[in-house]
Order: sequence, then structure tokens, then C-alpha cells
Amino acid sequence: MSLELKSISVAFGGFKALNDVTLSLRKAEIVGLIGPNGAGKTTCVNVITGFQEPSSGTATLDDVSISGKAPFDIRRRGLARTFQAGRLFTGLDVLDNLAVTGVGLGHSRKASEEEALRLLTWMGAAHLAELPAAGLPYTDERRVGIARALMLAPDFLLLDEPAAGMSEAEAEDLAQIIRRIAEELQCGVLLIEHNVGLVLSLSNHVYVLDAGMIIEEGDKDAILGSRAVREAYLGA
Ligand code: ADP
Repeated sequence: MSLELKSISVAFGGFKALNDVTLSLRKAEIVGLIGPNGAGKTTCVNVITGFQEPSSGTATLDDVSISGKAPFDIRRRGLARTFQAGRLFTGLDVLDNLAVTGVGLGHSRKASEEEALRLLTWMGAAHLAELPAAGLPYTDERRVGIARALMLAPDFLLLDEPAAGMSEAEAEDLAQIIRRIAEELQCGVLLIEHNVGLVLSLSNHVYVLDAGMIIEEGDKDAILGSRAVREAYLGA
């Protein structure tokens, strides 16, 4: 099982937001994608999730092309995502926010609620179940967003800036959840984050984007030792 980008380029007019990007993610693996502002991270997320058709190259999920497929179709094939802002249904409580996904998949309301509660419990968030989604503390909203994505029982989960705005202690809690998603659910996680320390400590493999190109990839030591990475971040 794998998610692969092969030589993906995205051009906006004459400007290449992504230039020949190749990366892969296997089941149960945590892969990080980092890069300075404007590097192309969001464009990469949009290609993977079907919001942006690449100008060239292919994106595949288990060897089936997903380039240009609709977001719902990609989701149905086992790739879930979270959004930077929670995007929860504010008129519903937390349990129902998760349960609607189950109902949308064709499960009964009762089964969907049971699965929702099971997932919240698994994440140590059962106490949130009956709270209104509107007005949840930021970190709880993030956790609920992840739990909702997991309702799809995905093979791959794309986390878009999950630690944004979190304290170090909150980010460490999040890190535990991400590890468990990979280990216990055997889900492949693509982690796109500004918090480079978090990405390096969690990921089996990290890709560094700069100006639309992968300028470095490897484990923590390879990234920390890379002159190209230092130059990209420090502009040296
Ligand atoms: P990051 O998420 O790493 O900050 P983005 O993927 O948002 O980077 O952007 C990469 C580059 O592509 C930026 O220079 C941005 O201005 C440009 N860009 C992104 N989307 C569009 C678009 N729809 N039209 C034109 N340029 C875009």
C-alpha cells in the first residue's frame, strides 16, 4: 500500500509552484513535508487531495492514478485529511460531527455513533462527545478534526499544520496521537508542519520543499546535516 507522487509539476501561468516533485508514503509510516513559506506545501496537499490538477506527473494510491480525481473519490479510496481550520459542523455536538461521516458512508446512525464514541475514547477524548463543536478549545477542535478524519478508516491520513498555534506540551500530546495512528491503526501519515522539531522527531522520512522543488530528503540526521536545508531556511 502506498501513496506516490511521481514527477509532479504545477504551473500557475509561467510560475512553477511545484517542479518535478516525487515522494512516497507507505502504510504505517510517518512522512514529513516541510519547507519555508511559499515552498509549495499547500499546493502539494491540494494535488494529493484532488483540489489541484497537476500540470504534469502522476499521483497514485496503490498504483491507481488519482491525478485529477474529485476529492470525494480520493477520500473514498482511503485517503483522509484534516484542515488547518477545524471545519467542524458548529451546530452539532462532537459525537454527531463524527457520526455524520459514518452515516455518509452508508452505516446506520447507531453504528456510526458507536464507532464515533469508540474513536473518541481511543484518542482519550470521550469526555468531549456531548459538547457542542462550536466554541471548543483550539487543541480539542484539532483532536476532533483528526478523529473525524479517522472515521473513514483511512489507509493514509494527511495532516495539514496540525500543531499550528499549539504550545510545546500540546504538540507533544498531538505527537503521541500521531504515533499511535501509525502504529496502532497502521495508517500512513503525511505530516505537513511548520514545527520542524515535531516533524523531525516523528517522521521516518522527511522531504524538504523549497521554491517548488524537493531540495533534501532523508531521516532526521540527514535533514539536520543538510547545507541546502540550512540555506533554504536561513536564506544564507
Ligand atoms: P506553502 O504552502 O509552502 O507556503 P504554497 O503551495 O501555498 O506554499 O505556494 C507556493 C507558491 O505558489 C507561492 O509562491 C504561491 O504564491 C503560489 N501559488 C499558490 N497557489 C497559487 C494559485 N492558485 N495561483 C498562483 N500562484 C499560486
